[in-house]
Amino acid sequence: MNRVYNFSAGPSMLPEAVLEKAAAELLNYQGTGQSVMEMSHRSKAYKPIIEKAEALVRELMNVPENYSVLFLQGGASLQFAMVPMNLAKKGKAAFVDTGVWSGKAIQEAKKYLTVDVIASSKADGYNRIPKVEKISGDYDYAHITLNNTIVGTAWKTLPNTGDIPLICDASSCILSEPLDVSKFGIIYAGAQKNLAPAGVTLVIIRNDLIRNADSPLGDLPESVPTMLRYDTHAKQGSMYNTPPCYSIYIMKLVLDWIKELGGTEAIGKINREKAGMFYDYLEQSAFFKPTVEQDSRSLMNIPFLTVIKDEEKAAEINKKFVVEAEAVGLVNLAGHRLVGGMRASVYNAMPIEGVKALIEFMKNFEKNNA
Ligand SMILES: *Cc1c(COP(=O)(O)O)cnc(C)c1O
Repeated sequence: MNRVYNFSAGPSMLPEAVLEKAAAELLNYQGTGQSVMEMSHRSKAYKPIIEKAEALVRELMNVPENYSVLFLQGGASLQFAMVPMNLAKKGKAAFVDTGVWSGKAIQEAKKYLTVDVIASSKADGYNRIPKVEKISGDYDYAHITLNNTIVGTAWKTLPNTGDIPLICDASSCILSEPLDVSKFGIIYAGAQKNLAPAGVTLVIIRNDLIRNADSPLGDLPESVPTMLRYDTHAKQGSMYNTPPCYSIYIMKLVLDWIKELGGTEAIGKINREKAGMFYDYLEQSAFFKPTVEQDSRSLMNIPFLTVIKDEEKAAEINKKFVVEAEAVGLVNLAGHRLVGGMRASVYNAMPIEGVKALIEFMKNFEKNNA
């Protein structure tokens, strides 16, 4: 069976070279006679895997010394709670509302502190990132969603938050291009879009935000569960309990693959080429159109519509598009129900050939249906 080009928003494609390597090592990892899935997380064979994964994150993202790299569970969604649980001190945080995921982060944070939504692009249907140059006030932290998976927007210039720690959800753009880690207090990302299979969440946190009895912010309330303290995981090298061993192993292989390509500069260049090619096609098409304002466009998630105005007719054509695309091995192109239309997610692992194949398909579809 031929492999398809999978444009899913997540879980999504993994690099074929990574899957092949994992397959070759599946039954007998480096002469141990065991699969990575079967071995103790404290074994001699496993330890170098998690250590190498951390070292590669540090190297590829140029993570400063005063940050910890954690491999946690619970997805980005658990970080929506863990961040306020661990950072609430004065009791107030600033959020920018850029769509569904930031909305969920806001709802969860409200359980632990007062949330000020200091900017929102809701009135524009979330089709752009609001202009926020500066965030100031008596806040424990400020939170943004770096790439908005559903609506296809991304921050191009970060707000200046001064001494307020800037926290970001980078689930759908982590390692897709260079990012200055030193600008953030915490970066978190569920792995299943750009890094690994589901099950592991990457958290990069500045050490002064990891609270314990000796930290500048003081200890956390007793009521915070052990598993939900960053301190617990930082102290134990993400081995307080059994980590998601196999997902971390695949992440390590993905990071090796990114390094071989030339790191985040190189992958960023490829991603800009892929997305650029696709937006260019959408711009010149008389049948399809992008939904997001030019200055806010994501490199990873690209929603698009047809120019058909009649809603029923448009829905019919959208359905036809998705079915016909699937028949030629271009799968998961249905748009999110909130945006409608179609969406192509072109994460790191999507080869440029996949984007070219999609554009070719769309040119033909346009010819046959315009
Ligand atoms: C997918 C996604 C999430 C949810 O991640 P889980 O790991 O499923 O909890 C959160 N934020 C963004 C930006 C996402 O794309």
